[in-house]
Amino acid sequence: MVREFTPITPGKVSVYLCGATVQAPPHIGHLRSGVVFDVLIRWLEASGYQVTFCRNVTDVEDKILATAKAEGVPPWIVAERNQRAFTWAYDTVGCRPPDIEPRATGHIPEMIVLIRRLIEGGHAYPAAGDVYFDVHSYDAYGALSGQRLDQMRPAEDADETGSKRDPRDFTLWKAAKPGEPYWETPWGPGRPGWHLECSAMSTKYLGPTFDIHGGGMDLIFPHHENEIAQSKSAGDGFARYWMHNGLLGLAGEKMSKSLGNSLLVTDVVTRVRPAELRYYLVQAHYRSLLEFSEEALDEAAAAYQRIERFMVRAYEVLGSPDHAYAEDEPDDLPTSFRSAMDDDLAVPSALAAVHACVRDGNQALAASDKAGARAALVRLRAMLDVLGLDPLSPHWAGSAASGAAGASGERLRQVIGSLVRLSLEQRDAARARRDYASADAIRDGLEEIGVVVEDTPQGPRWELKR
Ligand SMILES: [Zn+2]
Repeated sequence: MVREFTPITPGKVSVYLCGATVQAPPHIGHLRSGVVFDVLIRWLEASGYQVTFCRNVTDVEDKILATAKAEGVPPWIVAERNQRAFTWAYDTVGCRPPDIEPRATGHIPEMIVLIRRLIEGGHAYPAAGDVYFDVHSYDAYGALSGQRLDQMRPAEDADETGSKRDPRDFTLWKAAKPGEPYWETPWGPGRPGWHLECSAMSTKYLGPTFDIHGGGMDLIFPHHENEIAQSKSAGDGFARYWMHNGLLGLAGEKMSKSLGNSLLVTDVVTRVRPAELRYYLVQAHYRSLLEFSEEALDEAAAAYQRIERFMVRAYEVLGSPDHAYAEDEPDDLPTSFRSAMDDDLAVPSALAAVHACVRDGNQALAASDKAGARAALVRLRAMLDVLGLDPLSPHWAGSAASGAAGASGERLRQVIGSLVRLSLEQRDAARARRDYASADAIRDGLEEIGVVVEDTPQGPRWELKR
C-alpha cells in the first residue's frame, strides 16, 4: 500500500536499512537493496530533505561461525574480510556510504537493555540459556506480513531443545555453544539473535520512532515482523513507513544467500562497466522481481551507452560546458521525472524522461540547435545525478574506461582530458595577465571536482583523485 509521506520532523528524514550479513563476498543480488535505497536517499535530498541513513552490518551469525571454523580462523576475520568486500562493491556501483554503519557485535549492551525491557514487560522469557520472545504477548504479531498466528510455521532460529513455550516464539539471545564467541549477560553467556540487533541499533541511532525502514522482500517475515514485535512491545514507536525491494531472480529462482551461484560483483564488473551494472539494477521498479539474464545486462549497458553517446556528441559541439558537473538544481528536473520519483520511486517512468531528454538533445544537435542541446544536457545530467548515473560525476569519470564496453568510456575520458586542458590554458592565460585570483580559482575549481593539478618543469600535469 502506498501512502503519502510525511516525516516526523519537517525537513528531515531518518532511514534504516537492513544491511549485509557478511558471511561471503557479495553477488549482484546483494547490491539491489543498496542501489535502490541509494536512489531513495538521493531523491529525498534532491527534494530538500536532510537525511540520516543508517545501514547495519550483521557480523556474527551461524554461517560466519561455520566458515571461520572450516578455515580455522576467528570469526572476526571472516566478517571483516567480507565486510570489506561489501564496502568495495557498494562503492563500485556508486552507492554512497551510510551516515552510520553499526555492527551487531559493537552493540551488545544496547541489546541486553532491550532484552531486559522485554522480560520486565512480560514479552520475553529466558529458558535454558536462551531468551525467547513470546509471540502471544504481542497482539499485532503477523500484521506486516498479513499472517495469523495460528497459520505460522515454527521459528527456525533455535535448536529443538524443547524449552520454548510456543514453537513460533523466536530467539532474542542464543546460549553459548563450546568454541563459539559469547558475551556475558544476566541470562548467561551467549550471542545475539539476528532480529534483536536491528531493533537495538535502529532506535539507538535514529530514535525510538523513525521515518523509513527498508530491506529486501525476503525480510518481511520473519525478520521485520520480529523487529516490530520487539520494538513495539518495548514501547517504542519504531518505523513509520516500510519499503521492501524485490529480489534479483536467477532462472526463476530466488537469489538467496543459500544459493551458491556465480554472479559475484567482482565477476560481473569484468563483463560490464560498474555504471552499466548500476543502470541494470536501477532500471526496474524497486518492488518488482528483477529476473537476471546476460541479455538484460547487455541491454542495460546499451541503454546507458546511448545516454553517454549523446553527452559526448553534445560536448564536442558545445565545447566547454557551463555545467562541468551536475549541480543540484531541482528546477532543472522535468516535471515528468519529478512526479515519477514522487510516485513511490517509479524509476522506469523516470528513465523514460531521461531517454526522452536524450532524444530531444540528439534532435537539437541534428538541427544545429546549440541552445536546445545545452538545455537537454543540463536537464539530463540533473536527472542522472539523482539516479547516481551521471557519467561525468567524479565517481564514474575515474573509472570510465574499465570493462568490456569501454569504447565510449574511452571517448568520454578524451573529452574530459580536453576539458581539463582547456581549463589549464585559461589558467595560464590568467597568470600571464597577472590575474592570480582567477588562476587560483580555476585550480581550486578543478580540485573540487576531483582533478588534481601539479606544475612540473614540463608544464602542468593532472590526474583524477582516487
Ligand atoms: Zn534488520
